[in-house]
Amino acid sequence: MTRLCVPLTGTTCPQMEADLAAATAGGADGVELRLDYLHEWDEAAVRHLLEAAARFPGEVIATYRTAAEGGHCDESEATRVSRLEFVGLTEAVDYLDVEYETWRASANIRQKIGLVCDVDAAETGRPRRRLILSKHNFENTPFDLESTLSVLAREPAHVVKVACKANSVVDALRVLDALRTSAAIRPTIGLAMGEVGLMTRVLARKLGAFLTFASLDAGKESAPGQATLDDMRRLYRWDAIGPATQVYGVIGCPVAHSMSPAILNAAFGETAHDAVYLPFRVEPNYAAFAAFVDGCVARPWLGLRGCSVTIPHKQNLLRYVEQRGGVVEPLARRIGAANTLCIEPGGRDDGTDTRVSAYNTDYRGAMDALLAGLGRCGTGSPPVNSDRNDVGLRRDSAWRTGPTKLDGVSVAVLGAGGVSRAIVAGLRDCGCAVTIYNRTRERAEALAAEFGAEARPNDERAGHRADVVINCTSIGMWPNVDDAPLPAEGLAHKPLVFDTVYNPIETRLLREARDRGCPTVDGVAMFVGQAAAQFTLWTHRPAPTDLMREVLARRLASR
Ligand code: NAP
Repeated sequence: MTRLCVPLTGTTCPQMEADLAAATAGGADGVELRLDYLHEWDEAAVRHLLEAAARFPGEVIATYRTAAEGGHCDESEATRVSRLEFVGLTEAVDYLDVEYETWRASANIRQKIGLVCDVDAAETGRPRRRLILSKHNFENTPFDLESTLSVLAREPAHVVKVACKANSVVDALRVLDALRTSAAIRPTIGLAMGEVGLMTRVLARKLGAFLTFASLDAGKESAPGQATLDDMRRLYRWDAIGPATQVYGVIGCPVAHSMSPAILNAAFGETAHDAVYLPFRVEPNYAAFAAFVDGCVARPWLGLRGCSVTIPHKQNLLRYVEQRGGVVEPLARRIGAANTLCIEPGGRDDGTDTRVSAYNTDYRGAMDALLAGLGRCGTGSPPVNSDRNDVGLRRDSAWRTGPTKLDGVSVAVLGAGGVSRAIVAGLRDCGCAVTIYNRTRERAEALAAEFGAEARPNDERAGHRADVVINCTSIGMWPNVDDAPLPAEGLAHKPLVFDTVYNPIETRLLREARDRGCPTVDGVAMFVGQAAAQFTLWTHRPAPTDLMREVLARRLASR
């Protein structure tokens, strides 16, 4: 079983002891004593720390990392090795992590570490003080990772480890390649550092790695890109990950603060779907997008089955699926953007028979939310249940038999960006009279011309007495929560107000609308709706939307 190991990065022994207790309470399987973080070497305090570590129920690794390999030790090599010997000879420590360069540096070091680590007695089954040989690269991901691991494995190490900086998600895929190959024959740690390396940390368990690291809290990482222990266990559902776990994620840039992992991982957990959902930061260009998805498709063992796709890749997704001969849902083609990728492997090891398809669930999420709002306030019809979408996959939205008719309903759409496109298309399909207001007038005019709407000058928006007002701009979004896209006098006639912004849930626009007695629809309804439609496309099951909404609200409130 892959261990979930917490590095202890306190700068004093008492701090490390406190963190050791917290790691124990948090359910860590292992801890790494990062001795190089200690500001001073007080032997009595170190002994006390080691006594506490001996009581830790999991495994204990001792590491005294050189600056050359990303650590903080500035002592002489002789001092460093003698301190490693000191801790290694106590009962507290199960593994010593020694850099390959150190190991290779002298026969004297090999002899000393070798005696402590019992390297020639591996077959005796003695459980304590085994050797992890490691190699780190804080610049990039070398192309010869598999051979590096083989070189390390020629030494009498019990575990081999490589950790390198990933500069792209494709680098992270290469680290997974090396981990997978090596872990099949020997205990291996293979990690990519940096934000894009997160997938190597979470998927370590799927690929049978010896361990992965998780920080105790934000700010206590021993390397860039470590998720916290709590996020590994609760957000990514570490304990549920196994070799057959399917992988999903959100492709975007930036993507670190996306709420999608929280709600989709919770949905997978609730429905016992064996899957994990990760953020994938992909550089904002088509080549990077195509390289990542191609890389995943070429590795069917990875189990990537689908992705949410967000800014700035929604058009890249359409182009990609078209170029790869996949199916683009006609709705997505008409809107000119897709936000959902489905991947169906065909069975070949190289993935060449994999089928990809693209959908737009923003449209459904937004229109279901709006129709529910209209249903509540007595205008239009509430959504009906779903069956199949227009390329034959089951789905869960209001659009089974075609759009609900809203003839004669007038709608003012504020904004002319990506979300506006999906919403204007949906409104026009329903027969609404749509007027678009946007800061950049030309964008409003172009969008209006495409979908048979009207564009009016932005400064006329407060005077428009539409039945429905929809904010599709980012105005009012955190941190600019005191901004509103419409002056309050524009609400005097009590339209239904739908704000697509969901962070915060109650925007200034919605607050002012409620104060004036307007019915309102918040952005959470749309966000959950589009994610729920993705869930259904991927799993062919209805999504647990109440739970998803609850998780999102909790997460937004905790910010
Ligand atoms: P986008 O393509 O970048 O469009 C942004 C729109 O906002 C443009 O019309 C832009 O006007 C306008 N805008 C931005 N800053 C402005 C300002 N200071 N003053 C006036 N207008 C401004 O973004 P998008 O993908 O459409 O997303 C728009 C918003 O929708 C997001 O911010 C998010 O809050 C919300 N959203 C919600 C969901 C959901 O599921 N609830 C999903 C996605 C997005 P110009 O054309 O003049 O630049």
